[in-house]
Amino acid sequence: MIVSRKKPVEELLAMLDGAKKIALVGCKSCAAACAVGGEKECNEMKALLEEKGYEVVGIALPDESCQKMLVKKEVKAFRDAEPDAYVSLACGNGCQTVAQNVSAPVYPANNTVFMGQTERVGIFNEMCRMCGDCVLGETGAICPVTKCAKSLVNGPCGGQKNGKCEVNPDNDCAWILIYNKLNELGQLDKICSVKPDKGYAEHSWPRSVNTKEAK
Ligand code: SF4
Ligand code: SF4
Repeated sequence: MIVSRKKPVEELLAMLDGAKKIALVGCKSCAAACAVGGEKECNEMKALLEEKGYEVVGIALPDESCQKMLVKKEVKAFRDAEPDAYVSLACGNGCQTVAQNVSAPVYPANNTVFMGQTERVGIFNEMCRMCGDCVLGETGAICPVTKCAKSLVNGPCGGQKNGKCEVNPDNDCAWILIYNKLNELGQLDKICSVKPDKGYAEHSWPRSVNTKEAK
């Protein structure tokens, strides 16, 4: 689940400066689950923009706003209306996907925050930062890159107090969690395994994956 939050409305309105005819593109997937880009939020945005004097030429609601082919098909509906601008109510991925399919400017209504686990409806936890080199097999399936404020992969910094992180005492120290979990699993020897530097410097963005390429 890609977790997004609404931008302050004033920020969005400032971006729209000069545009009069607006098309809205939401997303029935993650953005709908986060209550920032489903049908209800798109209708609310339409009402808000109309109240501010904009003409909203329509709402597109693809099943997933990050699916290029789906979005391409959905935005065709706006071709004759010739909007001055589009507002994406999806994540940053969805916003860029719309921009690749239209010639008018596209503005994000949301801030994309993280890839999250859904604890229950409306409550999300960050679990993975998509580092591209997973170490969960060595850490009792608790991610040190995400759960440790310093992303330490070879043990704690030593600053924890009563099991809480020195950076944000609201959070448990990831390495105390990892130690306890490995202990419970009878895998404490893994705490001593030295993991190579994660080599963030070697990453280059953007990354692409083609599942059809020969393995
Ligand atoms: S180590 Fe953590 S950030 Fe990296 S892939 Fe695994 S869960 Fe994700
Ligand atoms: S206290 Fe624990 S979680 Fe916080 S930065 Fe140090 S090792 Fe990481």
